[in-house]
Amino acid sequence: MLALALAVAVLVKPHIVWKPIPFGAARKAEMARYAEKHYGIDSWVLHPRVIVEHYTANESFAATWNAFAADTPDPELGELPGTCAHFVIDKDGTIYQLVPLNVMCRHTVGLNYAAIGIEHVGTSDAEILHDPAQLRSSLELTAWLMTTYRIPLADVIGHNESLTSPFHKELYAPWAHQTHGDWRKADMDVYREKLAALLRQRR
Ligand SMILES: [Zn+2]
Repeated sequence: MLALALAVAVLVKPHIVWKPIPFGAARKAEMARYAEKHYGIDSWVLHPRVIVEHYTANESFAATWNAFAADTPDPELGELPGTCAHFVIDKDGTIYQLVPLNVMCRHTVGLNYAAIGIEHVGTSDAEILHDPAQLRSSLELTAWLMTTYRIPLADVIGHNESLTSPFHKELYAPWAHQTHGDWRKADMDVYREKLAALLRQRR
């Protein structure tokens, strides 16, 4: 019975709209160079162990997609490839996938070698927690990814929690303590509680 319940849980995949950003040979080579410098891994291939939740700090899916597609050096740290995330969840709950899940994406310093990135269109944790459609899609997507890649609840983190992840690794010393303010622990505790409740329903 347990095996059957788990098999059913695996199959609950939310509707995902494939809207890929360009990620050809040149960008993959940039990603491998980045991974070599920051993680000591000469590869762009992602083996997902962690899920990092973000918000876009804007109110537009289109602007977010365009910024991720550009592949220009990021304005904050000035490196290539350009920043991106595997998924962006719009305010109406639409889930867009931009990058295949076996490709590393630059969304979280210290974790890009191991982490799937999920962006939410919005400007604060609270805004997303109080948008029922967006939150529902976020929880459904994250639960499906956890089941698919066997990622435990403790490894579903907010960007602001990056420095305390056991997977955090940054060889380039000036970036060793770099993080962002999106999705703080107090808000992620609320998010993880809702995620745990959804996963319990499925069993
Ligand atoms: Zn972020």
